[in-house]
Amino acid sequence: MDSLTARIAAALRPEFDQAVIVAPVGHPVLGLPPCRVLGCAGGAITRAGLCKGHHTRWHRADRPDVGRWVQTDQPPLQPQRILASCAVEGCRRGQCAATLCSGHYQLWKRSDRPKLGQWIIGQQPLSAFPRSVCAIGDCTLDAETKKRPLCRNHDHRWRTNGMPPIEQFVIDCDVRGADIFDLRGLPDRLVREIQYGLQCRVDESRLKTQPRRLMPMIRCLSQIGAHSLREHTIEEWDAVLFTGASLGRTNSVIAFVRDTLASLDRLQGLVGWDTEYPRDIWKLTNLGFPATRLAVLRFDRIHPHWMRDLAKRWCRWRLSTGSSAGVVASNLYALTRFCRFLEETGRGVPTPAALDRPMIEEYLAWVAVRCPDPNTRRKDLGGLASFLRTLQQHRWAPDLSPGAVLFREDYPPIPAPKARALSEFVASQLELESNLCRFAEPRFRVLTEILQRTGLRVGDARRLTIDCIDRDQHGAAYLRYHNHKMRRDARTPIDDALAEAITAQQQRVRKQFPTGPILFPMIVANLDGTRPIDRAAYAQNLDAWVSACEIRTEAGDNVHVRPHQFRHTYATRLINSGVPQHVVKKLLDHDSDTMTAHYARLSMETVREEWSRATKVDIHGQEIRELDGELAEAVWLKNSLSRAKMALPNGYCTLPLQQTCEYANACLTCPMFLTTPEFLPQHRTQLIETRVLIESARARGQQRVQQMNETVEKNLLNIIGTLQTAPSTCADAQRGRDHKDNDAR
Ligand code: SF4
Ligand SMILES: [Zn+2]
Ligand SMILES: [Zn+2]
Ligand SMILES: [Zn+2]
Repeated sequence: MDSLTARIAAALRPEFDQAVIVAPVGHPVLGLPPCRVLGCAGGAITRAGLCKGHHTRWHRADRPDVGRWVQTDQPPLQPQRILASCAVEGCRRGQCAATLCSGHYQLWKRSDRPKLGQWIIGQQPLSAFPRSVCAIGDCTLDAETKKRPLCRNHDHRWRTNGMPPIEQFVIDCDVRGADIFDLRGLPDRLVREIQYGLQCRVDESRLKTQPRRLMPMIRCLSQIGAHSLREHTIEEWDAVLFTGASLGRTNSVIAFVRDTLASLDRLQGLVGWDTEYPRDIWKLTNLGFPATRLAVLRFDRIHPHWMRDLAKRWCRWRLSTGSSAGVVASNLYALTRFCRFLEETGRGVPTPAALDRPMIEEYLAWVAVRCPDPNTRRKDLGGLASFLRTLQQHRWAPDLSPGAVLFREDYPPIPAPKARALSEFVASQLELESNLCRFAEPRFRVLTEILQRTGLRVGDARRLTIDCIDRDQHGAAYLRYHNHKMRRDARTPIDDALAEAITAQQQRVRKQFPTGPILFPMIVANLDGTRPIDRAAYAQNLDAWVSACEIRTEAGDNVHVRPHQFRHTYATRLINSGVPQHVVKKLLDHDSDTMTAHYARLSMETVREEWSRATKVDIHGQEIRELDGELAEAVWLKNSLSRAKMALPNGYCTLPLQQTCEYANACLTCPMFLTTPEFLPQHRTQLIETRVLIESARARGQQRVQQMNETVEKNLLNIIGTLQTAPSTCADAQRGRDHKDNDAR
């Protein structure tokens, strides 16, 4: 026995240290789910959730609705027959004839077959040889002969089965009808490896590993005479099993081989930097990183060798000084692109000295054509610059040309961030109850509502813990989450309706995963409920939902919604509704002001566009045309400042900045006054009030007051007349509504 086989044997628990491993029905990893028929002990092998026997019955009953059929009383399937023992009291041998074992039957025959009932009274058990119980599972009969440890019936079955080795026959009988991993016939080393692979799968409790998936592979390994899974790399096994041996391709098979090889590496201590560093493909789990979609760092595409060696050193240094695996992988990809440039353009860099500034300039030209997107290019150049800077700083390549650096000017300018918020037209459709209720699964609806109403990043929302709601002393609810980007915990206020939806989701999860820690657990490959919904799975569901709801843009086009757009929309709405930037920054848990300021800039642009589109009139109801060109921008800024300085209830003051107004209550007769349709409700109210004032002044004989108010009345009529015919924008209407609400308050 070689050392690995011995090490595996020592690590195996007794239930896996078997040539035939039974997968009990209902076992969370190995077993089939139980048959849906109440009281049936069989495993469900059909999509309808029935065992073979019940599936046959259901089929014969003309395949009625399964849900209802399993509720009806189904007679039990034929139970295993208990073998009867000899009728003589105390005799435990199997019956041969006339309810007697062979020995007592011979005695009875020799006694001229008296009445059996009376004859057996007083008979003694035979003791021709020492008693031994039949070796088959729960058979309680005595062995028939001293040659084999089998009762009469099992001995008969053994002979009719071609007299196999007793040990094999005993196992076959014991596991009859059960789902098994049958490793008999495989070499010892391979048996141990598969046993250990199964044990690790059970310990991880992550993926279903059923015999019907793995047995074809096990038979295939036996046919091709494999001795160990270590004979090939995973890529070679893929070719050997699926191409060479024509095994039906199933991902679960190759995943089992891959996982088992990794488990064996761990068992042998082949993990950690000493073993992983020399390899050209690093498995991140072997370096202590959690299993994620990013599984490996690839150095096999880095040429020449001196650069590959330095790239490994650079990545090891980055990973061990706290850089995330994702950032390191992205930087490594930048270096890989540089190597592709060297390869495609036939430029050789046999030594670090050959990598100089002219070559970097050639690369800048190549990458500008190959990679026109400035953001991607900036990322790539940043990765290469970081690599070269590290080499220079640490003097890892003393002969590296001093010109091998990138300058700030080498990067393309940062493009202005695009507005990625959903338009109000689309966002409001996505929030309609009639649409939200069309989600195929409630968990996806709750996740979407969290994104819409809190602006969380989808990566944070899908990993919410199940107890994610906190309440303050007044009972107000807050969502507690981990900001994975900033690596800190944070809280955001939520409304009661969302808190209720989350509570309902908690209850659904508790039913399926009583001890699961996650609010949105993945349904498959997640036996203990610790893995959250996959990002891609959510995006797919969101897509399907958006198209099922027939969400359209203002122009009637189809909409593609990315989960992160909910965050942009949430932030933009906050800014647009006047929430101060520092509050928005806190709500979104931004680390710097840059992103919040980006939303504020977008908000300003939106307001600016609305202002340009709006009809603006003076006190005579004459429409004011905006200036064109650069001055228009300056006028807009001046008016914005004026608005901030002099907030009017019914319009805008366009007084030059350095001047101050002493008659702020005389705006409706002032040439500096300007107003827009959003203030129509205020103008109408003021018209009624002005007419009341005119009447009372007339009644009191106050002519001057009457004349002043008549001018105001005339101006109001002109203003209202023009504004009423002006096309109003959505924002106007909204602001009008807001003002009305404020008035009502
Ligand atoms: S009276 Fe004229 S200058 Fe004074 S606040 Fe009103 S619009 Fe501006
Ligand atoms: Zn059944
Ligand atoms: Zn007997
Ligand atoms: Zn028996």
